[in-house]
Amino acid sequence: MKSFYILILTSLLLTSCGKINLLTLDQEIQLGKQSRDQVFAQYGNKVLDPNSSDPKIKAAYQYIYNVRNAVLNSGNVEYKDRFAWEVYIINDPTLNAFCTPGGYIFFYTGLIKYLEDGSSFAGVMGHEIAHADLRHSGKQITNKMGIDILLSIIAGASSNEVAQLTSLFTNLGALQYSQSFEKESDAASVKYLCPTAYRTDGAYRFFEKLIADGNSSSGPTFLSTHPDPGDRVNNIKSDAAKISGNCTTNKLNYNNDPDYAQFKKNLGL
Ligand SMILES: [Zn+2]
Repeated sequence: MKSFYILILTSLLLTSCGKINLLTLDQEIQLGKQSRDQVFAQYGNKVLDPNSSDPKIKAAYQYIYNVRNAVLNSGNVEYKDRFAWEVYIINDPTLNAFCTPGGYIFFYTGLIKYLEDGSSFAGVMGHEIAHADLRHSGKQITNKMGIDILLSIIAGASSNEVAQLTSLFTNLGALQYSQSFEKESDAASVKYLCPTAYRTDGAYRFFEKLIADGNSSSGPTFLSTHPDPGDRVNNIKSDAAKISGNCTTNKLNYNNDPDYAQFKKNLGL
């Protein structure tokens, strides 16, 4: 057993800092499910019921599923068939969206209202899907907890290791990602949207609007505190320009998107 640890630790030392992930896919999925249930408990009936018989709520969820499916079917999502990719709307004015490990995605109506078109929304969707698909939570937890502590939990006889990890995940605020993870998710969003009808650089619009509104320094955790919104706009635009020749050309219009307007209307926004 000892040589096993030495082997692992040696390989870890050879891997760059912050990129190590000691959680298995199954642990991330379980962690995600428990986090999802915590969100349900916290928000109660503010989480709009995806099985609602209200035709407006149904239509709103159908809109969200279409955007999600476009991203998942881009051919660039590694765990497309492995993770849950459940999406929920939280009726709350918070300007935010987040995704737990294992693909449980939450959008606040505050953010849906703030955005003005489907490409901007798809850009955020791509960004959130990327956090799960690139397994940022597992890496962040590994990084914050320290490898030796995590190894001892994983190697331990305790059957509730995932419960322990869940509480650590919650306590450490692992949903606030590092600067490099935010950049990776922005770049992945561009890749995901390239083959879709949404504008490839859709993710930049949110940051641009925040800057225009003078909101960029007090932005949501979605922004993390680190990457400068102006840099994010530039990076997303330049990444999209580089691959634009290979992307679908029949893209939605930024300034006139009646489907997104209807989506907001269905939610009373
Ligand atoms: Zn993010």
